[in-house]
Amino acid sequence: MKAAILTKPYQIQIQDVEKPVMQDRDVLIRVVFTGVCGSELHAFQGTHTLRTPPVILGHEISGEIVKIGSNVSKFVCGDRVTVFPLLGCGECANCLEGSINLCDKKVVLGTKQWQGSFAEYISVPEQAVYPLFDKVSLEAGAVIEPLAVAVHAVRKAGVTVGDKVLIMGGGTIGLCILLVTRQAGAFITIVTDVVEYNRKKALELGVTYSIDGKDEYLIPKCIEFTDGKGCDKTFITASASHLVNQAIQLTRKKGTIMVLSTYEDSVPLDIQKARSREQIVTGTTMYNHEDFRRAIDLVAANIIDVSPLITKVLKLSDAQYSLELLQDRTENFIKILLSTT
Ligand SMILES: [Zn+2]
Ligand SMILES: [Zn+2]
Repeated sequence: MKAAILTKPYQIQIQDVEKPVMQDRDVLIRVVFTGVCGSELHAFQGTHTLRTPPVILGHEISGEIVKIGSNVSKFVCGDRVTVFPLLGCGECANCLEGSINLCDKKVVLGTKQWQGSFAEYISVPEQAVYPLFDKVSLEAGAVIEPLAVAVHAVRKAGVTVGDKVLIMGGGTIGLCILLVTRQAGAFITIVTDVVEYNRKKALELGVTYSIDGKDEYLIPKCIEFTDGKGCDKTFITASASHLVNQAIQLTRKKGTIMVLSTYEDSVPLDIQKARSREQIVTGTTMYNHEDFRRAIDLVAANIIDVSPLITKVLKLSDAQYSLELLQDRTENFIKILLSTT
């Protein structure tokens, strides 16, 4: 089969490789679409701790089952599916309470232990496979994973009816949070981003206010839009390190600041200010099975439409170019999918 292999930092080659070996509880999936994620960029640049070359990247996927192992009971060939790209050890306290994302021994799709979906086929244990039914398009199926990140963060922040929500960063994750918080009943939503295209996309998706992250009046504007109090819940999805302290200023007393962005270095945190305002500053990583199930349900029921996020579809053979685009931002996009067909 053809696979896009990260052979060394900044180099992806299309190679002919053996189809993945299947165990008796695995299904073989013919990949149709696979999303290009920010974490892949870290791998491309050689700074990701788990995704190190040589490796087949890719963990946002939709496809069709073409072969089933002898002990597979829940699926048949032809099923349209997506993949929960984490396998927990199944034994630790975190796995036992359903928090696979916190398992120290978890195996992640798109690493040496579990080759990813920048390929024509991947092998997946059936417990990590989710049906898309007829209601979720294969394009949307490849965006379930980032949507699950948002579902997890919004659930953990406890967004509720009438909340005022600030989202710092209007990329794929920020916009997924916008879609989920609106459904959760947020009354006012604000997205900040330095890229005009992202701010316009947020407006297209129904945000109340879209503000330039470099606007010198950003702080007074946000305060004014929230009746002088600040937002109830703030999500940080852009990794500029000054945003954490900005969030503390823009979030109301007793409000919650949820960090989703990742940082290579430690980040300054004005804990004195957060303490005196009795704020909760916390974060999330990935999702659990319940979040994933809910993300699929929201799309299947037409409650959330992720299709406006998919702004570019390239071929698998363009994998190198897609990561260069992510790195250099020579054009505007939200989510890039690679198609294998
Ligand atoms: Zn991802
Ligand atoms: Zn575990």
